[in-house]
Parts: sequence; structure tokens; C-alpha cells
Amino acid sequence: MPESIPQDLLDLRARLEAFLGDEVAALLPNDGGEISGDVAHQIRERSRAHGFFSLMQPREYGGQQAGILAKVVVWEAIAAANSVPARLILGPGPGTLERATGPLRERLLEPVLRGEKRGAFAFTEPSGPDAPERPTWAVRDGDDLLITGRKSYVSGGATSDFYTVLVNVDASEGAPAGTAMVVVDRDTPGVTIDRRFSSLDGGHHVELRFDQARVSVANVLGKVGDGMQGALRDITDERLELSATACGLMQWTVRYVVDHITAPHPSGNRLGDREGVRLRYSDLQIQAYAARSVLYRTARLAESGENAMNEIMAAKVFCTETLGTIVDGAVQLTGGQALVSGHPLEALYRRVRSLRLAGGASDVLRLNVARGRIEFGAGRV
Ligand SMILES: Cc1cc2nc3c(=O)[nH]c(=O)nc-3n(C[C@H](O)[C@H](O)[C@H](O)COP(=O)(O)OP(=O)(O)OC[C@H]3O[C@@H](n4cnc5c(N)ncnc54)[C@H](O)[C@@H]3O)c2cc1C
Repeated sequence: MPESIPQDLLDLRARLEAFLGDEVAALLPNDGGEISGDVAHQIRERSRAHGFFSLMQPREYGGQQAGILAKVVVWEAIAAANSVPARLILGPGPGTLERATGPLRERLLEPVLRGEKRGAFAFTEPSGPDAPERPTWAVRDGDDLLITGRKSYVSGGATSDFYTVLVNVDASEGAPAGTAMVVVDRDTPGVTIDRRFSSLDGGHHVELRFDQARVSVANVLGKVGDGMQGALRDITDERLELSATACGLMQWTVRYVVDHITAPHPSGNRLGDREGVRLRYSDLQIQAYAARSVLYRTARLAESGENAMNEIMAAKVFCTETLGTIVDGAVQLTGGQALVSGHPLEALYRRVRSLRLAGGASDVLRLNVARGRIEFGAGRV
């Protein structure tokens, strides 16, 4: 088995697959349409009853704190069902709030884990002709920071209660300067949603403006100076999740194609009886096998406690790009009906494109993989 995963995780995966295939599938609308709020609530409650909801949550808050390999197994299995977003099955993890301490932790972490409050990650800056002169920055004013700037692509920002914002703190006498991850409540004076937009994959995002938004220094996660490092750690988790999601979606796609090419065809012969079709199908299977092998080797490296940042970037590029190729090939083998609005491959084709940008553009990650090797001697072959 390419995954080489221990028996307890195989059991977990089997239970999750059964839950998704039986209980969740029975709750979903037959026409593949939108999931209502009521159905979403029922799915969450059923997931809670089975113990999946708390899988990724910290032990000190009653969760099971799954390890990296377990997370990968779970993310992949949920994506392989291609039926519901992972957030309906898995309760929110601490995310960037893992580093929150004191009153900030008390005020936000518990409500986030209970699903009562939501945060969004504000990292990406506007580019192009109207890009600001300098990236989002903050100046100190006593025990506060005054934040100014813009963030251009904040997923879920319209319905979030707070944003975790990467800022550059200016030097001031006696206080450290540098990047910082700062928690900014949405209703802070000086914080404006400039634009709401949706993307091809169906996600909803906002562009934010900060105009001398005043935030206590106590809202800094970690300390001033280590913001970029912290952001990279958070993004590394997201990249592994995206890699696992890509591999799950590949499994769904390859299964879809094999069902399609072995079903009756108007020509009288099954598509899968033609050698040319078999060759194309086999490529999809080989690519998915290679991507899953990359994913699980990377997950095991990370699980062992080794620094796997380079491998996770490599996996993210490989798995998301391979998924793009596989879904494209699946559309071709399925024919015109795959592009009819509402067809699962049509929806998937739109969804997978974003994975090569979200969590870091492929080419930027490629450069980082090279940099990791050449400048830091990191990364394995
Ligand atoms: C669905 C989705 C959700 C997202 N959610 C969030 C979010 O919640 N929070 C957030 O902060 N951001 C989010 N993003 C933004 C995402 O992180 C950025 O789109 C991504 O990092 C690329 O940055 P950019 O769009 O500014 O493109 P740019 O940085 O302008 O790059 C555009 C292209 O130029 C090329 N390029 C750029 N720099 C280099 C280089 N050094 N070398 C070679 N080529 C280069 C690459 O081909 C790149 O794709 C999301 C994006 C998507 C698609």
C-alpha cells in the first residue's frame, strides 16, 4: 500500500468513508444543489456524534489533536468523497490562534473552537497599477499599534469576526521592529471592507483597508519580528491540507472516469474497450498514484518531527498541478456532458484551478524549493 499508514488510521479512514458514503450522502440534496443551513447543521451534529468533529481540535479543549499523518488521511478521505466541504465534518482548529496567549486566547480561541467566532487570514497585498507604495505597516502609539494598508484577498472576510493580519511594524525607540501577525477585530474603527468578490471555485473573499486602525500590542501573535515566520508556519499547514485535498479529489476523479469508460456507450462498445482510451485513463491513474506517494512520504516526514517545509512546498506544487491535469483529462474522456453546468466534473474543473494559487502560487513555491536547497541546504530528493 503506497500510503503505509498504521492500522488505527486505516480504521479511522474506513469509519469516515462509511459516514460520508452513508449518513452524509443520505442528507444531501438529490440534485447536487446547494446544501441548506439546516442540512449543514445536521451533518455537523452527526459528525460530532461520531467523534470526527473534534479530531483536529486541541486536547486541552476536549479535542483529539490528530497528528499530521492522521490529518492528511482525514483531509484526503473527505475530499475523495467530493460531496461536502471539510468544514462541515471537522470542527475548526486553532489556526493562527495557536500562538495566542493571555486574554486574547481566552476571548477568541474557545469561541473559535466552538464554532461561535470565525477568523480570516489577511496576508496577500494588492498588486498591479493601484498597488500601495508600501506593504501594510504599523506604527507604535504607546501600547497600541496603528495599522495602515490593504489586503487584497481575504477568504471568508465578510463573515469573519476578526482578521489575522501580517504587518510590518516600524522601528521606534526601545521597541522591536519587523513583521508581526496581529489580530484585528472586524469592527475596529479604521477597518473597512473595500470590495467583496467571489472566485471561480465558488469562494467568497474581501479586500480590506486599514486606515490607522488602532489595536493593542497584546493582539500580536508571538512577538514583533517573527510575524513572517509564524505566517509561513500557518501557510505550511494549509499547503499540506491543499495537497491532501488535491489527492482526495484525484481519487474521486479517477473513480469517476473508470465508471464512465466501463459503462455502456452509444457506439455499442464501452469507451474503456478502446486502447487509446485505456492509455489516457492509465495516465490519470499513474499520475494519481505518484501524487499520493509524494503526499504520504511528505506526511510521514512531517509526522516524524523533521523539518519538511521544502517537501510540503514540493508536494503542494506537484499534487495541485497533477490534480489540474487529471481533472482536465477526465473532462476530455467524459466528453461534452462533463462541461454542462451542474455536472460534477464541471464544478470540479472550476474548483481545482484555485489550488495552484491559494496557499502560494506554484512558481513562487518552486523558487522557494530551489532557495531552500541552494541557500539553506534543506530539502531531500
Ligand atoms: C481561492 C483563493 C483563496 C485565497 N485566500 C486567501 C486568504 O484567505 N488570505 C490571503 O492572504 N490570500 C489569499 N489568497 C491569495 C493567494 O495567496 C495569492 O493569490 C497567491 O499567493 C498569489 O499572489 P498574487 O495573487 O498576489 O499574485 P502575484 O504575487 O502578483 O503573482 C502573480 C503570478 O506572477 C508569477 N510570479 C510572482 N512572483 C514571482 C516570482 N518571484 N518568480 C516567478 N514568478 C512569479 C506567478 O506566476 C504568480 O502566479 C487566495 C487566493 C485564492 C485563489
